[in-house]
Order: sequence, then C-alpha cells, then structure tokens
Amino acid sequence: MEPNQQRRFVGKVAFVSGAASGIGRAAAIAFAREGASVVLADISEPGTAETAQMIAQRGGRTVAVRCDVSSAEEVKTALDKTIEAFGRLDVAFNNAGVEPKKLAPTAEWEADEWDHILNIDLRGVFLCMKYEIPLILKQGGGAIVNTSSGAGVIGIKGSPAYTAAKHGLIGLTRAAALDYAAQNIRINVVCPGYIDTPMMARYTGGPPEGRARVISEEPVGRMGTPDEIADAVVWLCSDASRFVIGHAMVIDGGQTIQ
Ligand code: NAD
Repeated sequence: MEPNQQRRFVGKVAFVSGAASGIGRAAAIAFAREGASVVLADISEPGTAETAQMIAQRGGRTVAVRCDVSSAEEVKTALDKTIEAFGRLDVAFNNAGVEPKKLAPTAEWEADEWDHILNIDLRGVFLCMKYEIPLILKQGGGAIVNTSSGAGVIGIKGSPAYTAAKHGLIGLTRAAALDYAAQNIRINVVCPGYIDTPMMARYTGGPPEGRARVISEEPVGRMGTPDEIADAVVWLCSDASRFVIGHAMVIDGGQTIQ
C-alpha cells in the first residue's frame, strides 16, 4: 500500500458495469485499491479478464461476470453471482454505455438506432438499480453512482438518442435518490466531459485533427483521464460525501460552462 493511501472500502463489495475498459476499469481499480472486493460486469469477457489481472497484480479481489446491462435476466444473474461470490453489495457504479455510431439530424435517425442507445445507456442503468437496491438495503444502506455525460447537461447536435439518454439518467438518479434517501442509500450521477478512453478514440476517429478538435473545446487544454472520474466516483461512494444526494456532478475541465 502507498503511504497515506486511504482504504475506505475494506470489507465492502462494489459492483462496476463497463469494467472492461476506460472509466469503468479505472473505477474498479480505484475501489480495489481502497480495499473493496469488486465485481467486474461487462459484455467484454477478455476486457474484464484484463481488468481482473490488473487488480490481482495489486493484490485486490475481483470476480468477472458477463453482463449485458440491457437484459434484465443478465443483470439479475450478475447480481446473483455478486452475492454468491462475496455475500453482500455495498456500492455500485452503473457506468456501461455506448456512443452513437454517427452524428445526424434527429429526423434522420432510425427508431432501432434510438432503441439501441436508450436500451443500454438509460434502461440498462434502471435495470442495474432495480436489482442492486434490494441487495444494498439488506446491508442497511450504501451508495450508487450512475454515469451520465456532458451530454446530460447540454444538447449535442446530431446526437439525439445519446443526449436524451444522458439527460434521462440525471432525472432517473434524482427520482431514485428521493425514493431511497430515508433508507440510507445515496444515489448520485457523474457527468464526465471529454475523457481519454477507447470510446473517445472511436468518437474522434483516426486522424489527429479529431483529437485536436475535442481538445480545443476544453478550457484546460487537455482531455480528462479515467482516473479523474474514478476519484470522484469513489468520493461519492464514501462517507466523505454523506450529505450528497441526487447530485449531478459535472467533471469536465470547464467544457460545459463556456
Ligand atoms: P469505453 O467504451 O472505454 O467503455 C465502455 C464499456 O462499456 C466497455 O467495456 C463496453 O464493453 C461496455 N459495454 C458496452 N455496452 C454494454 C452492455 N450492453 N452491457 C455491459 N457493458 C457494456 O467507454 P468509456 O469512455 O469508459 O465510457 C464509460 C461511460 O462513460 C459510458 O457510459 C459513457 O457514455 C460515459 N462517458 C464517457 C465520456 C468520454 O469522454 N469517454 C464522456 C462522457 C460520458
């Protein structure tokens, strides 16, 4: 353990969706570093195996479960496996998501493209909370963080489904936060700006101009790192944020306040 490193989650169990890559992987590593046993949920089994190996090298405990968050059955099975492996659930980071494959004006979107994004990015988070909350209640409380986006607080031209899903997540988080505040589950949502992950690499495309265009929109002159989101997620799940409920925390280097 590094000097002065806090271990705020010893004896706790964290469920992380989208744990095979990017922000989810960084958060899984951060929870493990703080002492949590971590459930790595994702559709990518090679990806979760790699995250598990990274955590094992640092002495942490994980279990990897294949889980498509848009399937109620797979989400329920993943949470059953959480209890089988570790016996409890204390915190959850509902982070799995997909970006649109193209940008196009709203009327040019097909309904099935809309459904694909909404099913994963919005319904998937609802399904995760539906099956997580009863388990967290059994522990007498805990915390949940969902992943929205800068697209949750501003409109993105050409991206109606992603913008709607990410705005919807803030509403979903606030409603659920009110439902469970008195029962000691705190539910919050993070809104990352441009974060340097595989998703961002797909979004900016191959040529360096794509990356430069994104960076030019950032007042700090750089993208964020997955660790910068993970730090906030761990804080929102820790006692340090015990009076923070239903909050949409924008972490974007100032991009959306311009
Ligand atoms: P990423 O593509 O690197 O990781 C996303 C992970 O989600 C992948 O491992 C993928 O396999 C998994 N996933 C996709 N569909 C799934 C499904 N149906 N069920 C389970 N897992 C699934 O992306 P990232 O940048 O780490 O994004 C994580 C979250 O952050 C997403 O919700 C994304 O919308 C959000 N976000 C990212 C950025 C950014 O700039 N990178 C900005 C704002 C919000």
